[in-house]
Amino acid sequence: MASFLFKILGKVRGRIKCSECGKYRVIYGRHKLSAAQENLIKRAEEEVFYVCGTSAQELFPTKKVPFVLKEGQNCLSVIETTYYAGIVK
Ligand SMILES: [Zn+2]
Repeated sequence: MASFLFKILGKVRGRIKCSECGKYRVIYGRHKLSAAQENLIKRAEEEVFYVCGTSAQELFPTKKVPFVLKEGQNCLSVIETTYYAGIVK
């Protein structure tokens, strides 16, 4: 299951904090995030107010986003703690 996800979405590249429940959600990408992309995610946390289940495209409607946020989650979904250890920088 996990390896299937990695094939489709890439590896875990970072995380973003939900402004409602405060849980961290995993960001997947085929490629390593650039500094600019990491800044975008930071800004989204601080200004756009990411909420569980928002897609990367909804978060950055004017940009082509090279990374993926798992959709179909909500604030009650369990955190994917097992993936945190695998964040690849
Ligand atoms: Zn949430």
